[in-house]
Amino acid sequence: MIRTRFAPSPTGHLHIGGARTALFCYLFSRQNNGKFILRIEDTDKERSKQEYTTGILEGLKWLGLEWDEGPFFQTQRTTTYRKYLEKLLEEGKAYRCFCTKEELESQRQYYMSIGKAPRYNGKCSSYTEQEQQKMIEEGRPFVVRLRSTEQKIEFNDLVKGKIEFPADTVGDISLSKGMDSPLYNFAVVVDDYEMQITHVIRGEDHIPNTPKQIAIAKALNLPSPEYGHLPLILGPDKSKMSKRHGATAVIDYKKEGFLPEALINFLALLGWNPGDNREVFDINQLISIYIK
Ligand code: GLU
Repeated sequence: MIRTRFAPSPTGHLHIGGARTALFCYLFSRQNNGKFILRIEDTDKERSKQEYTTGILEGLKWLGLEWDEGPFFQTQRTTTYRKYLEKLLEEGKAYRCFCTKEELESQRQYYMSIGKAPRYNGKCSSYTEQEQQKMIEEGRPFVVRLRSTEQKIEFNDLVKGKIEFPADTVGDISLSKGMDSPLYNFAVVVDDYEMQITHVIRGEDHIPNTPKQIAIAKALNLPSPEYGHLPLILGPDKSKMSKRHGATAVIDYKKEGFLPEALINFLALLGWNPGDNREVFDINQLISIYIK
């Protein structure tokens, strides 16, 4: 069964770019008699706000993009992530990194000075389990890093076709701060697997995250979902839509008196047309004809 998910971070309003992603996920699941799952990615505790979560839920409901399962909140799933982290550590596929901010910063400066993309230099990767335990007992903070296998990563994007990343793209990325604060790419991989997501449909700004997520899934011996990355909605000046282009929050359109049907119709026609002169579609018509 096809299962899609919309996975916004509640660090800002639901804007029209996010609503368009949700519309694609919704239509694709409905076209295939599948399920549409809503997941709130609230792991960034400093930037996530309740008011944004409320606005996201309200905006999706107003647009009629009702989800079948969820909303799931990542902050309520810490024990699940921990289980996967422990497995990676036990198998030696991840290690604890005790480098300080200053050390990481000087590594970053070094790579920049020799004209290379900054990455972790692997300093902590060869500590034994005893050495790691000793530093934990000393109370030193750590992040858990994936031990990179330095393999070329490629995937077949449903929108863009084959995308390849050279072997040194991923590096020893961090998965979690300590054992209880998972980071974005790691939490996404665990959740997409546990929620049995078959198709990840999201904005193309996430393409750089995809090789990381594929590498993490491989380390966990998990299958990766299919990926489809959508072109972003740009402003007239061709930069990514933002506040300076005017009202971008879905809820503002509601306040201004727009009908949800009009916004859905508008979003559907951004970058697509049915190949004839029709310009007005309701959601059921979209389910039957949209981008098949
Ligand atoms: N939480 C991410 C965001 O709001 C999306 C993650 C994803 O779709 O994989 O940008």
